[in-house]
Amino acid sequence: MELNENARVDTSQVDDRRGSGGGGGMGIPIPIGGGRGGIVGIVIAVLVALVGGGFGLNAATNGGGSEQGDNTSLEQKCSAQDALKQLDCRNALYVNSIQAYWRTAMPEAFGEQYRPSKTVFFSQNVSTACGAADSGVGPFYCPADDLVYIDLSFYKLLADQLGAEGEFAQPYVLAHEYGHHVQDLLGTEAQMRRQQQRDPQSANALSVKLELQADCYAGAWAKNATGTADDKGQKIFTSITEQDISQAIDTAEKIGDDAIQQRSGRPVNPDEFTHGSSDQRKQWFTKGFTTGDPKSCDTFGSGA
Ligand SMILES: [Zn+2]
Repeated sequence: MELNENARVDTSQVDDRRGSGGGGGMGIPIPIGGGRGGIVGIVIAVLVALVGGGFGLNAATNGGGSEQGDNTSLEQKCSAQDALKQLDCRNALYVNSIQAYWRTAMPEAFGEQYRPSKTVFFSQNVSTACGAADSGVGPFYCPADDLVYIDLSFYKLLADQLGAEGEFAQPYVLAHEYGHHVQDLLGTEAQMRRQQQRDPQSANALSVKLELQADCYAGAWAKNATGTADDKGQKIFTSITEQDISQAIDTAEKIGDDAIQQRSGRPVNPDEFTHGSSDQRKQWFTKGFTTGDPKSCDTFGSGA
């Protein structure tokens, strides 16, 4: 994967709340695990949420306001010559690419306008319209304020603890979260919540479909990512290789519910799946990538 050094990072698509002191005691800081069990526990919490939907979606709304961050230093950093050496600037650029894709793809595929959504960079804890959250839940999307939230230190955990290495894991994670935003805009998410209420026994199975669709949307973005450009028309990616795509698939596999259950030493129980098995996640990301068409992501359809 190579980014175009001349691409301009549009930092207005992110909201940098890392300097705001972490929301003044909101949320629970990540405990420093006492012994092995503790550490494993933290990792599981993170993984479950990366894949994400659980947190927030079921929580009471208005648990916290949407505070504004301060982008001043990020803006400065990301307009410098070597901006793309910085993790946060690169991630802002991934957000730019993902949203540039949906601006075209959503009207094309679904006949609806895309509405942009910001990504909030936070550290340790953050207050959202879905309630307070800490880094332990991993990256997530909050439908109540239409924002994607990420503590960028998550990537280190993904690489160190899961062996999901390679830079392309990062845009994959973000593209998955923006997939949830698209589901929110299309009404898929609300429809699925209503279905869950009517049929609580299928709640987990429905959640899996929502998550797999977000993986498939991430695949569709990946296929079209080299066609995305900044607001001056400069290409954002100069190349995405097969190796990058295998890294994304590898990440999708490593955060499958069965893989997580296995890693935690629990027996694999498909009834408890909320995000899909490794195989399913791999399959749906690949489907989105192969077709490059979000319409093919019909995880709720009869063909699924
Ligand atoms: Zn998710």
